[in-house]
This record gives sequence, structure tokens and C-alpha cells, in this order.
Amino acid sequence: MQEASCEALLVSALANVRYLTGFSGSAAMLLVLERGAVLVTDGRYATQAAEELVGTGAEARVEALGPSEHSRLLKGLLAGTARLGLEAEHVSWADRQRYSEDWAEGTELQATTGLVERLRVKKDPGELARMAAAAAVADEAFAAVRGWLDDGPTEAELALALDTEMRRLGADGPAFETIVASGPNAAKPHHRPSSRQVRPGELVVLDLGARVDGYCSDMTRTVWAGEPGEVGTRRSAGGAGSVLAAGVPAAGEGAGGVDLRRLLSVVLESQQAGLAAVRDGVPAAEVDRACREVIEAAGLGGRFVHGTGHGVGLDIHEAPALASTSSDILGCGHVVTVEPGVYLAGVAGARIEDTVVVGETGCKALTTSPKEAPGNVA
Ligand code: ZN
Ligand code: ZN
Repeated sequence: MQEASCEALLVSALANVRYLTGFSGSAAMLLVLERGAVLVTDGRYATQAAEELVGTGAEARVEALGPSEHSRLLKGLLAGTARLGLEAEHVSWADRQRYSEDWAEGTELQATTGLVERLRVKKDPGELARMAAAAAVADEAFAAVRGWLDDGPTEAELALALDTEMRRLGADGPAFETIVASGPNAAKPHHRPSSRQVRPGELVVLDLGARVDGYCSDMTRTVWAGEPGEVGTRRSAGGAGSVLAAGVPAAGEGAGGVDLRRLLSVVLESQQAGLAAVRDGVPAAEVDRACREVIEAAGLGGRFVHGTGHGVGLDIHEAPALASTSSDILGCGHVVTVEPGVYLAGVAGARIEDTVVVGETGCKALTTSPKEAPGNVA
């Protein structure tokens, strides 16, 4: 706060409030003053907030008030404060306007960024334990549902089964909307599970994560439905194009065919290269480079359409960013994903993702589900 030259800070992002106090409800702000902190919430959370703060031992006073009383309380607390920091990335234009009119008269509102987020990047043992539990739940759900894939369920049925399994295993719920993308749908990185039935010989992308005690896990596996197929065929025009013919030769197939085994093998190799690059002190952009080089060497550079990974914690996407444009440096205790993918519009796609803890000389994967072999690659 001193560096940001503010005497007080209003923490309004709920994940930040939870990180600092343990409060898990859906409405609260934490006012951090030099003389102490005050959690301002409403009547619905009076009991829960008091219990949760006792549970974590956070030293903050709880004020559960009606909306009309908020202004008076904040005005009183801020009397004599010249500069109040706001979380610029989490306060809307309308909020700021309202604050200055309602209770911040005479106090200068100052934009701050990432003050709490920077504290959250390095996970402590308690956080790591929760994330390991979240990863174990996803692993177990994946194992429970994997065999069903061979029977031709729909994408939506599979997604529902994964979500139900994660809850049954004790998760708060899924950490994000589960992705099940089969055949040509797998070419869309964030495909929403549909009524499409999984067909034998296809590659299916399953991207799932659990939330346990607030903390997320994130894992993607690309698996075969039934026996590994050899060739995916383009079903819509204007998709795959000549890059495929050059980069992923379809063994003995005509134009438009894609060697699915080769596709999976390239992504596997890329992910392994990424994982091998993760360790303390390495620029995040270097991990991205390691993944991208393998895919580029296979002639598929243009088909890896997203960054390599992201930090995970109370939020499913948080700092650091693993991308070519990232200036973040990985450090011990950071938890990040490594998730390269290749997407061939209208035909097929593959992505493999693990959530890993950065260590001094390498990384440790929290997600441990088996990665499927590509089969015999020509
Ligand atoms: Zn994911
Ligand atoms: Zn992810």
C-alpha cells in the first residue's frame, strides 16, 4: 500500500477478499486501514462471515449492514484518510462514480493494480494441499468416466457425468464449465458440450477441473473413443487446408485427411517439452516457446491458437501468464498450467493440460491422469 501511495485500500474482488480473510460469500468488501481491517458485508452473511473469520484467524472486524448503512460506515471509517486505493481491475466506472458521491467525499480515490494478486501467486502449503485435493478429485472423476466413452455417449452426457462425479467426490463443484469436444468439435478450444454423439476412432478433448475449499484444478486429456482411428476427414470446407498435407501427412489417404495419431503425438511431445522447461527463475515466455517450437517444427505453428498456460488458485485463471508476450518469471510455489493444443478447423483437435507446482529444479504435476498414447505413428 505504501508503494502504491495510499493510506487505505478497498479490496473488492471477492477472490482477494477470500484470500485475505477466508470469507467465501458473494458480497463483501474489505477495507484495509493502517489501524486494522473491516469486512463490510450484508445481513445475509452476518453469521457466515463471523464464523469464517474465526476459522481462518483473520484479524478483521465484521460489519453486516443494510445497503443504506454502508455509506455512513465507510464515511466514518475513512475520516482523515487522504488517499484510498481501489482495485482498478475490479471496480466498474459506475462503482467509482457511486463511491465518490456516496462516501468518499474528501478522499482521493487512487487506482491500484495487482496488490493482492501479487501475494496470491506463490502458494503456501495449505493452498497447495487444497489444490492437490482438487486435482485428485478431477483425476478420479476422469477415471470413473473414461471407460464410458467407448459406448458412444453424447458430449453433454459425458460433461454431466464428470460434473456429478466431481461433486460426489467432495468438490465444491466444477472449477469452470467442463469441456467435452469430440471429433470436429475438438477443433474449437472452448467448445460447449453438445448433443453430438461420440463416434469410434475419434479424438475427444476433455477439459475439467474441480474446486475444493475455494481452490481450483485444471486438466485436459485428449483420448480415443473406441480403438484409435487413423484419419479424420474434413467435414466442412475452408478448414484444414494445405498446412495439413505438408505438416501432418495422412498415411495413404487422400487430400483433406488428417493423421490423428500424428496430431496427438505432436501435442504430447509439445506438452512434454513445456513441462521440462518449467522451473524456478524461468521466464514464462520460455515455456511457451518450448511448447510452440515442437508444434512449429511439425508445420502446425498457426494451429496453436492460444497461450501455453496460466496460473491457477482461487481463480481458474490468474497470474502468471504463460504466453509469448508474458514478462512473468516463474518462481517456487507458483501453480501453473501447461496446455498446448493444435486445432484443425472442421476436422479434429487435441490439447493436453496439467496443473503443476513450480519447484527449484523442475515441476511437480498435481494432475496425474494417464495420457493416452497416440498409437503407431507413421
Ligand atoms: Zn483447462
Ligand atoms: Zn487451463
